[in-house]
Amino acid sequence: MTDNCLFCKIIAGAIPGKIVHQDEELVVFEDIAPQAPFHYLIVPRKHIPTTLDMAEVDEALIGRVFRLAARLARQMGFAEEGFRVVNNCNAGAGQTVWHLHFHLLGGRKMTWPPG
Ligand code: 5GP
Ligand code: ZN
Repeated sequence: MTDNCLFCKIIAGAIPGKIVHQDEELVVFEDIAPQAPFHYLIVPRKHIPTTLDMAEVDEALIGRVFRLAARLARQMGFAEEGFRVVNNCNAGAGQTVWHLHFHLLGGRKMTWPPG
């Protein structure tokens, strides 16, 4: 666990989170400020600050993120109507927590382009 990292603390159970899935590599919990009826954060256990910090060894991990997003969307019943997987990289794109994560948003109509 990396000190002073909010998501490392949630993954370790040091801070409570509404966890909906966990496995050896990924933890998924509800976003505290949901932007859609379904809003989950898919978070690798490994502390990677941003997309820019990914290494070649992390490539398979990100593939699993998307497969898990699809599985959860089907399980929760919003896959067919459409959903979005979002990664914000750096402050200009809206990143506020410096531990790589992917938003899984569903349950409402999405607009494009995003703000
Ligand atoms: P970012 O802005 O970095 O892409 O996404 C960070 C997300 O973490 C935001 O959507 C924010 O609502 C969520 N968040 C911030 N603090 C907490 C917290 O303590 N618990 C949970 N579950 N989500 C949080
Ligand atoms: Zn972390």
